[in-house]
Amino acid sequence: MSFGIDDLPVRDELRGKSPYGAPQLDVPVRLNTNENPYPLPEPLVERIAERVREAARDLNRYPDRDAVELRTQLAKYLTDTSGYRVGTENVWAANGSNEVIQQLLQTFGGPGRTAIGFEPSYSMHGLIARGTGTGWISGPRNEDFTIDLAAAERAVAEHRPDVVFVTTPNNPTGTAVPAGTVLALYEAAQRAKPSMVVVDEAYVEFSHGDSLLPLLEGRPNLVVSRTMSKAFGAAGLRLGYLAAHPAVVDAVQLVRLPYHLSAVTQATALAALEHTGTLLKYVEQLKSERDRLMGELLATGYEVTASDANFVQFGRFEDAHAVWRQILDRGVLVRDNGVPGWLRVTAGTPEENDAFLDAVRELKKEQS
Ligand code: PMP
Repeated sequence: MSFGIDDLPVRDELRGKSPYGAPQLDVPVRLNTNENPYPLPEPLVERIAERVREAARDLNRYPDRDAVELRTQLAKYLTDTSGYRVGTENVWAANGSNEVIQQLLQTFGGPGRTAIGFEPSYSMHGLIARGTGTGWISGPRNEDFTIDLAAAERAVAEHRPDVVFVTTPNNPTGTAVPAGTVLALYEAAQRAKPSMVVVDEAYVEFSHGDSLLPLLEGRPNLVVSRTMSKAFGAAGLRLGYLAAHPAVVDAVQLVRLPYHLSAVTQATALAALEHTGTLLKYVEQLKSERDRLMGELLATGYEVTASDANFVQFGRFEDAHAVWRQILDRGVLVRDNGVPGWLRVTAGTPEENDAFLDAVRELKKEQS
């Protein structure tokens, strides 16, 4: 027997656990991790090379620890797209929104504290909670994957969590959460005890509705987290950010590692933000492909969950994992998130989506 993790003196709560990870398989059509299928446009690639070359001249020095220029540009992007004024002092950035979430849990969670999410939802919320020693509470959802507000309020009153996660649009279901629900949860959470409510808007650019950024007004315990991994088509960049009261930005700096955001990352993200208009053009295309996927899946006899994101949850299957495998056998990788009866497909290019639709139509025919 070989020496493994459990032979090491690892923390008890990590024993027997598996790391997060969607399979990174080499198949022709990969629609499993909600990436943007379009490579960055060539002029932007050139601009990145230019800005990184400039940054390289100073790599003997540590980067701007507070990433002020980048936070200023992110704030401008949020203000321009939401109409709600966000300033540099309201924004914090890190290596992917996963790191933003980790910093929030290190700051507001931790040993002896708890966080709640309404599941099925983004599994990393619970995993990062575990990694930071924060107790995890799995809150309820309705059968149709909307948040059951009364049950959610009861769960918050009963458990009095320190951090409440609301993902909108939700992953893996695509479900948007109405502003009224978030407001009610914020009130319920504050009634239970002073606690942070984190609205994870990783997919908001694909939504039919608006960002919940305006809810930040007068609510210092509310945080909105965002990412450049989806709408900006820059998952490889690893750049996530949050908007909140300046006190929250001060607080996360207590736990961030010094110089956590490399000069190369900051330069690349700034170059991408110069090309916001071009990058967001793809969003409209992906939204219409998402709607086409929903329509075609329904027409083929599958069920779908109404989606506001760049992916669609479809089913229902007695054995979702077996269907996942059958789709993979046809050269298309989708995601089995472990939601019983359902799978998730990311909206790709029209050609990729056609390949997926051909595969699931074929499966339907074989079954009938
Ligand atoms: N939040 C949600 C809801 C997500 O689905 C993801 C990525 N799958 C993230 C956050 C993290 O994204 P990143 O770390 O790439 O910013």
